[in-house]
Amino acid sequence: MLTGTDKLLESGCDVEKKEKLCRSRGGESCAFDGAMIVLQPIADTAHLVHGPIACCGNTWEGRGTLSSRGDLFKLGFTTDIDEIDIVYGSESRLFNAIVQTYRSVHPKAIFVYSTCVSGLIGEDLDAICRKAEDACGIRVIPVNAPGFVGPKNLGNRIAGEVLLDSVIGTGEPPDNLLAKGGFINLIGEYNIAGDLWLIEPALRKAGIRIMSRITGDATFEEITYAHRADLNVVVCSRALVNVAKEMERKYGIPYVEVSFFGKTEMAKALRGIGNGFSRSGRLSGLSDFDLKQKIDEVIESEEARIDEKLKKYAHLRGMKAVLYTGGVKSWSFISALQDLGIEIVAVGTKKSTVEDEEKMKAILG
Ligand code: SF4
Repeated sequence: MLTGTDKLLESGCDVEKKEKLCRSRGGESCAFDGAMIVLQPIADTAHLVHGPIACCGNTWEGRGTLSSRGDLFKLGFTTDIDEIDIVYGSESRLFNAIVQTYRSVHPKAIFVYSTCVSGLIGEDLDAICRKAEDACGIRVIPVNAPGFVGPKNLGNRIAGEVLLDSVIGTGEPPDNLLAKGGFINLIGEYNIAGDLWLIEPALRKAGIRIMSRITGDATFEEITYAHRADLNVVVCSRALVNVAKEMERKYGIPYVEVSFFGKTEMAKALRGIGNGFSRSGRLSGLSDFDLKQKIDEVIESEEARIDEKLKKYAHLRGMKAVLYTGGVKSWSFISALQDLGIEIVAVGTKKSTVEDEEKMKAILG
């Protein structure tokens, strides 16, 4: 049987190098920040940080994620605990803060985050959240990812487990949505600077519909019925691959991993999703042949449009570049720059998994 730790470490990197999921190469934030990065884009929920105010400040508005579902996620909520709370405990303060948050902004749900200080003094987040749930009548969900347990990547995974344990599978989609079929979940796309709003129209044109966005531009409700999708599409490195793997085990939903960054990767992603539907046999609405034909048509028309726009960058062809980036960007940037005819002469990376590094090597040859 898989333990919680196994699930967190599984496929974070090559199995032989799983300890590297927790490696930090400097310049990387903590597990608490990693958990908030994943959950905070759920825009109709409140995110309450149980810790000193600096933890809330550390994560607030750091990512540039955007949403069309309201701006509640832009507010920072914290218990702002201090020395007295450390000595005497602050569970009643946390309970009152949850109730006050509920009464002030009426969120769809409240995520409550532990931090180094509340974790070290042993605050029982689970018990307080259960009590607050009864008092408020909405979901109050503990996120036990204090900063000291590891780096950002581990926090991403813990947040994924929180979604699996407490959100996904707790709701049902409207009947008219379910009847259409042929839906994907987009996992690990956070709509940073609105990138989802460029991707989603292209997917729609190709006949691919999104059931749940996990979590950029998402509502809490749509994530509750993510288990009804036909295919999971994992974006952004392998930070949330644990969610896709567990949903395959639990609900039989297959998954594909893609990047939408750049012309070549976008075309690969669309074809990968088409193949994923074929393999799953769960496609409805369009036949396998029609979907693939539609995807090819979209790629052809979008590439013609992009080529036209890229003409003004033709002078970059033949130039050399050194890249220093991280995560999925470590290899998707290579591909995007190669689309422009730029030669990559050296690459540095941080926060990348071993698989990311392998992809970098494969693209560079
Ligand atoms: S949780 Fe810990 S490491 Fe993270 S911001 Fe707070 S004090 Fe710093």
